[in-house]
Amino acid sequence: MGEEDEMNQEYSLATVLIVDDEPTNIEVLAKLLQPDHRVLFTTDPSRAFHLAAQKEPDLILMDVIMPVTDGYEVCRQLKNRPETRDIPVIFVTAMSEEQFEAIGFEVGGVDYVTKPVKPFLLRARVRTHIDLKRKNDLLKRLAAMDGLTGIPNRRTMDEFLRLEWHRGLRHETRLSAMLIDVDYFKKFNDHHGHQAGDHCLRQIAGALSRALERKTDLVARYGGEEFACILPETPLPGAIHTAEKIQQAVAALAIPHPRSEVSDIVTLSMGVVSITPQRGLEPEEILTAADRLLYSAKRQGRNQFQSATYQPERLASV
Ligand code: GH3
Ligand code: MG
Ligand code: MG
Repeated sequence: MGEEDEMNQEYSLATVLIVDDEPTNIEVLAKLLQPDHRVLFTTDPSRAFHLAAQKEPDLILMDVIMPVTDGYEVCRQLKNRPETRDIPVIFVTAMSEEQFEAIGFEVGGVDYVTKPVKPFLLRARVRTHIDLKRKNDLLKRLAAMDGLTGIPNRRTMDEFLRLEWHRGLRHETRLSAMLIDVDYFKKFNDHHGHQAGDHCLRQIAGALSRALERKTDLVARYGGEEFACILPETPLPGAIHTAEKIQQAVAALAIPHPRSEVSDIVTLSMGVVSITPQRGLEPEEILTAADRLLYSAKRQGRNQFQSATYQPERLASV
């Protein structure tokens, strides 16, 4: 058995990672789990984090006593990192004393199984925890998404903005944000009906997602008929380029809007801001600034964007 072998390639199967320094233990566990699970393994506890982060298993079976780093320590490390925090860890060990079990739970394990393992019980516990994990994953996905359009919601965007803001602070890179509002959307609903309005919002969400070039960009439904984009490491010219692409993408949808006062199809107004994150500023200020520019785009006739580099007055006066 070669280390890190993938014994089963089926993706719909749940993946279990076994960490145990003793190959025969791995063999026993793998036999119990196959063919209902895709089994990965390593005999080297120092590889556990890397493997878990890369392969995203649904569950980890962890030996306790291993050379150099014991299973408790590996589990602590997994629980300390956001990439691996949510993967349930079941300890599998010959140490059956209560105090060892207690440590297992303290360091973040979800269950504790003693060797020699009872096949039926091990399988049942594995199934239970994989089930829970998958339900948690689904809940998290649903909580992050907007129900109507299927793109990230405002909460996800706020979180993303905070993360990117702090990354920008560390690396002194520019960050751009865009607030986007559909023009005369109330009239669109009045004319075509609310269901057609919903359909229109879904089409726009799709066009926005396609218009963003980089994987690291985020587009979210900000609320109602408003959308927001966060463009990490992007100075103003890049953001302006993206705003133009968005305008073209929505124009290409050519959604008829006979009641619009600026066009005969659906159009957008946008506020585009770029900022270098600085201490003493809150990430929300970039959105406030984008909102002011959006308002100005509306006042100046809609179907356009206004853009600026954010100049914090507060810092200028220091
Ligand atoms: P403006 O050009 O100034 O933005 O005008 P507007 O009519 O787009 O702006 P206003 O804020 O007056 O109206 C927004 C409309 O968006 C009213 C609301 O019913 C509609 N809306 C908000 N959320 C939804 C939604 O989820 N589905 C549908 N169909 N309509 C929505
Ligand atoms: Mg609005
Ligand atoms: Mg509007």
